[in-house]
Amino acid sequence: MLPRPAVDSTRRPVRGPAPPLPEADAPTLPDLGHGRRAPFALPALPYAETALAPVISAKTIYFHYHRHHAGYVATLNRLLAGQPSPSPNRSLIAILRGSAEAPSQAALFNNAAQVWNHSFYWHCLTPGGGGRPGGALAAAIDRTFGSYATFREHMIAAAVGQFGSGWAWLCVEGDRLTIRRTANAQSPIQVPGLTPLLTIDVWEHAYYLDVQNRRADHVTRVVDRLLNWSFATRIFEAHQRALAPPFTAAPPMPVLAPLPAQTTSAPPPAPLQEPPPIPVWRIADTRAASLARLARRR
Ligand code: MN
Repeated sequence: MLPRPAVDSTRRPVRGPAPPLPEADAPTLPDLGHGRRAPFALPALPYAETALAPVISAKTIYFHYHRHHAGYVATLNRLLAGQPSPSPNRSLIAILRGSAEAPSQAALFNNAAQVWNHSFYWHCLTPGGGGRPGGALAAAIDRTFGSYATFREHMIAAAVGQFGSGWAWLCVEGDRLTIRRTANAQSPIQVPGLTPLLTIDVWEHAYYLDVQNRRADHVTRVVDRLLNWSFATRIFEAHQRALAPPFTAAPPMPVLAPLPAQTTSAPPPAPLQEPPPIPVWRIADTRAASLARLARRR
């Protein structure tokens, strides 16, 4: 790779604004495009509304995105506008975590969590996705569940078995994977230390226009044909890097009297290495990659 040229910080960037920062309260997650503070935006879909057909029709995507997701964004912004500061200056994750336990803030929580869940959900699907992942995540799935087939069975069962509206999630917690299901707007992002990798929306609005009450058919097709393992792998790898022990500078050496001659010849310890930096992800990259993949298929 060529060395990067030095940056002249006195000039504005030529190619547009700086890449967005990761979610402030979940540094291993990519920026989901809804902005850092209120009023929150409806993020762009990372693919065309027709891209997930025939598993999810363009009609379902249209109502799910333009009516449900957009509705949560509008209601959240309206609720925040009526709140005293500093609420409007907090991040979406801080707002949903802060309102999760307060019954009087249920509407704020429900809309904040549904905005976050849907902003995340769209990236969990991709045309030509699904099936067995590769790389580090495949090894972690084998370690946790024994095999991809067992993971698939548990993920489908979690989504199908959620009574009523909710979500099924693949998460990483510490050094292990875990499958969770949540009711209504509840989300693993409420729990610091629990990092979602993938989700399946099992509210009826996610599938009823396409398969009516056959939730199991919808979930099975999503797992086999749409799950975006490349998105999940990027989060998983950033999470693994963040788990690495941070480098700490050695304290200054005290001045000691000379040691007597060594009588053993133990090898010197390996030098400490700094962990690699956590990359800043841009949803634009994901969208560009999806569009490039689509273009190649045409
Ligand atoms: Mn939904």
